[in-house]
Amino acid sequence: MAVGVQTDMATPALARFGSHHVKEQFLAPSIAGDFVSCLGVSEPGSGSDVASIQTSAKRDGDDLIINGQKMWITSAFQADWICLLANTLHTSPHTNKTLICVPMDTPGIHLAKRINKIGMLSSDTAQIFFEDVRVPAKNIVGEEGKGFTYQMIQFQEERLAAVALLLSPLNKCIQITIDYTKERQAFGKSILDNQYVHYRLAELETEVECLRALTYRATELYVSGEDVTKLVSMCKLKGGRLVREVTDSCLQFWGGMGFTKEVLVSRYYRDMRLISIGGGADEVMLSIICKYMGILPKHGKKKETTSK
Ligand SMILES: Cc1cc2nc3c(=O)[nH]c(=O)nc-3n(C[C@H](O)[C@H](O)[C@H](O)COP(=O)(O)OP(=O)(O)OC[C@H]3O[C@@H](n4cnc5c(N)ncnc54)[C@H](O)[C@@H]3O)c2cc1C
Repeated sequence: MAVGVQTDMATPALARFGSHHVKEQFLAPSIAGDFVSCLGVSEPGSGSDVASIQTSAKRDGDDLIINGQKMWITSAFQADWICLLANTLHTSPHTNKTLICVPMDTPGIHLAKRINKIGMLSSDTAQIFFEDVRVPAKNIVGEEGKGFTYQMIQFQEERLAAVALLLSPLNKCIQITIDYTKERQAFGKSILDNQYVHYRLAELETEVECLRALTYRATELYVSGEDVTKLVSMCKLKGGRLVREVTDSCLQFWGGMGFTKEVLVSRYYRDMRLISIGGGADEVMLSIICKYMGILPKHGKKKETTSK
């Protein structure tokens, strides 16, 4: 997950829109592996509704002074810099935001303690406070006021990468379940030899192949420069739901062993639960898909377009 943050969450906007300065100071060392990066979008009061963030960055000569807080920040304790979304202008919620590269050792940044999660335990997650944090305005990514748009574009890559990174673990989850149930005996035969079990595993493997096909299609179109927001949202929705189905069904076939921390299947069950929440919840993906299908009710339209 921490690698995904580095490659597909915190850096795509710099690569696409960043000045020579931010590319040289933040992107190049991140690609080289010398810097760890993190992404600061979510706040205690603003998760799904990105447009409602409160963190601000005010001009002071050639500098920006940042005040506010960020929540759920992956790799916060390891990071050398944060790609931060903050309000810099007094315009509408879609045009007042700016992405800013902020070194994590800047005075005024305080890390609250690590959040105690049920999964994804190999990466730390923290709340960050910003108190009069001063950074040069030249650390702005691209144009001031385009931060919301850049972040929405950056999310497409994050979501696509999140789903692409699921495919092998999903296959592995099924395979280790085949291996275990082939060995484990009950009622004079292997667990796997029960038709319900092998049929169910076949169904799940089929679903994973469907997700793979959708992911490959969305990736191909993304690489060719098309707007893949609808397809990526479908990938993220399907991926989030399928991991819950696969890990839950597989864990069931491990019996009591599945309910221990001794086996990989229970780790998959805990870790992958995040997919339906992080980077835009399933319901937010449904709103986006509805918007692209032209069936999102008008009264909800304005609000939904502000969401992850
Ligand atoms: C382990 C972890 C790592 C994370 N890493 C990062 C990170 O590095 N950087 C970062 O910026 N953020 C990060 N996040 C934050 C993550 O993106 C948010 O948790 C996510 O966007 C949901 O926001 P929220 O938790 O505030 O939920 P809320 O916005 O409070 O939503 C709660 C629930 O309400 C429902 N809901 C929301 N909107 C709608 C709607 N329109 N219609 C119907 N139902 C709805 C959904 O079921 C949703 O899950 C991380 C989160 C976790 C748990």
